[in-house]
Amino acid sequence: MKRVAVLGATGSIGASALDVIARHPQRFTVHALTAHRNVDALVALCARHRPSLAVIADATLEPALKSKLAGAGLPTRAASGADGLRDAAANDADIVIAAIVGAAGLDSTLAAARAGKRLLLANKEAVVMAGPLLLQALREGGGELVPIDSEHNAIFQCLPGARTDLDRAGVRRIVLTASGGPFRGRTRAQLAHVTPDQACAHPKWVMGRKISVDSATLMNKGLEVIEAHWLFGARAEQIDVVVHPQSIVHSLVEYADGSTLAQLGNPDMRTALAHALAWPERIESGVAPLHLAQLGSLQFEAPDRATFACLDLAWRALAAGGTAPAILNAANEVAVAAFLAGALPFLAIAEVIAATLDAMPAEPVATLDELVYADLTARAHAQRIMRAAHCC
Ligand code: NAD
Ligand code: MG
Repeated sequence: MKRVAVLGATGSIGASALDVIARHPQRFTVHALTAHRNVDALVALCARHRPSLAVIADATLEPALKSKLAGAGLPTRAASGADGLRDAAANDADIVIAAIVGAAGLDSTLAAARAGKRLLLANKEAVVMAGPLLLQALREGGGELVPIDSEHNAIFQCLPGARTDLDRAGVRRIVLTASGGPFRGRTRAQLAHVTPDQACAHPKWVMGRKISVDSATLMNKGLEVIEAHWLFGARAEQIDVVVHPQSIVHSLVEYADGSTLAQLGNPDMRTALAHALAWPERIESGVAPLHLAQLGSLQFEAPDRATFACLDLAWRALAAGGTAPAILNAANEVAVAAFLAGALPFLAIAEVIAATLDAMPAEPVATLDELVYADLTARAHAQRIMRAAHCC
């Protein structure tokens, strides 16, 4: 019986993960669940999944969590804040699902890696910010990372084994597929006045609002390019992006002999979660099988890199190295939050990120403190840039 901690349990990935886990009560038990501020949603999940530990990240809400757990007659222990998240990630679980959104997930993701867990990584911002530190923590902890971002999970499935050396395995290229998001095919002029709700209306995936906006700007794919670089040791020039609006082919690996292997499936995160939970075994996920004849055809096209400028900003940050990906990520988080709050136009997201990268030359990174400092400084820069443009 494997004990699973779900960090970010009240989110979209959290819900998919708990759905798969609940299908296999003989294999998995929920050890810990965490949430940011939504005590009621967390207690409802505790009533359903009976974890030993519930963590609310906002420490001011711990008393409310305690009393509501007691009120519901649940024996679940309550904890809060960064210590509580670390407890959930590093102590009694065998498998940790890192599904907190944004830089807020970095500390607990690193804690799980250091503690030698099987780490199911959805929190791509953590690896974008701190790729080398995360890899070091995994090496030191002796655990294993199985990606659950659907593209990286697909690549993992198409490689001959975990921690494959791409050159020795004859891998020529990794091709990440992108749905193109809700604004595929639009011109810059057509994007000037799009709203947060339009940006979050993804044609293929139901996701949290931050990643939905990232999908609409293509920054999600940019973050995934950096994620692929660290997770698979792929050089920047070995990674390519192709738009595939049906989201059936989740990514591809091209080999030296001309073979290209792809992983296909309906767009539902439960496939990647079931794969990563049971790997190397295969278990039922609740996802409907593919009917290729009904699908008829699949489309592929090159991304529009001029209109969706965020993709190239991510390549630029990857090439610059050091603190640049953390700066990119921080500026993106700030700009996306402002866009979601109705305070920043959609097209200005890329402009704020570019101006933040311009203002902060990349520095080498040796420690977590240096990264946290770069993250905070980049957030302050991005805020200043938005204020100067009279946005916020
Ligand atoms: P979401 O917004 O639906 O859920 C986020 C979760 O994180 C919630 O449980 C929330 O309570 C928690 N959280 C938010 N801020 C927090 C904070 N400051 N401290 C502690 N907890 C906090 O997001 P999601 O769509 O589930 O995405 C989660 C992560 O998975 C993101 O990094 C995203 O990029 C990645 N991801 C998501 C999908 C998807 O289909 N949703 C696919 C691939 C990767
Ligand atoms: Mg993805």
